Amino acid sequence: MKSLFGERLQKLAIDAGFNCPNRDGYKGTGGCTYCVNEAFNPSYCESTSSITEQIRLGIEFHAVRYRRANKFLAYFQPYSNTYAPLEILKEKYGEALSCPGVVGLVIGTRPDCIDDEILQYLASLRKDYFIQVEYGIESIYEETLERINRCHTFAQGVEAISKTSALGISTGAHFIFGLPGETREMMQQYARFISALPIDSVKFHQLQVIKGTAMEKEFNERRTDFHVFSLQSYIDFIIGFLEELNPAIVVERFAGEVPPRYIENRNWGLLRYDEVLRRIEKELEKRQTWQGRMYRRIEGM
Ligand code: SF4
Repeated sequence: MKSLFGERLQKLAIDAGFNCPNRDGYKGTGGCTYCVNEAFNPSYCESTSSITEQIRLGIEFHAVRYRRANKFLAYFQPYSNTYAPLEILKEKYGEALSCPGVVGLVIGTRPDCIDDEILQYLASLRKDYFIQVEYGIESIYEETLERINRCHTFAQGVEAISKTSALGISTGAHFIFGLPGETREMMQQYARFISALPIDSVKFHQLQVIKGTAMEKEFNERRTDFHVFSLQSYIDFIIGFLEELNPAIVVERFAGEVPPRYIENRNWGLLRYDEVLRRIEKELEKRQTWQGRMYRRIEGM
């Protein structure tokens, strides 16, 4: 961002009132087995306020609590933010882009909620704004996606990413480590697949089992199906993972941070993300290693 804009940017999360096809019955009704969107949303972000108001409150919130910024990215975060007719998308994105200081959009969505028309529109915004589409891919394994009821495939993820990137739109992806049925070795394989994707940035979360979800029930009934990371083993895993990851891909996040009241498997205590990041960086330095140290391009993937 600094190389593009010459300064630090702040992302402001917005709940623009979108739904999700995996909850409203179009693809499914129960949603992904781990999903409780309220747990993933910042406090200032409420779909009952207008987008303009949420942006104003977000700027205020960050000015008081974090480092100041003069330029902002409107981050359409919860649910599937391309899941509406194009005219509605234009209205909502347009409102965000008309707010003072907003220089771009980051749009979180599912890979099955995008089409050529929406992508062409987003590509047309690129001449004036920074535009990123962030896809929830979650796993590279079709059997995992089925088990967690994502109701889309990894192949759809690859297709959406490829089409988005081909139009020059910045492309991000989100993955979860620790989904049921996946061993540590299986998760390590993500590095090879992700490295071969045309993505600009990636976010990783350790699985956080949220109270009241179908995942909580499954976790309590079949705990041996879950690879649960201790903090130290997660840091160790992340270091090995980074070594194999394409160094051109920006890692925006290494771990998630859901408010403690929502979490069932709180085995890292109340550690904040900043501290997790600090420990990962310290470990990289200690081992004198870095992202991409073991990266090899895999032909044909
Ligand atoms: S796609 Fe996202 S919003 Fe929809 S059910 Fe899954 S996690 Fe929840």
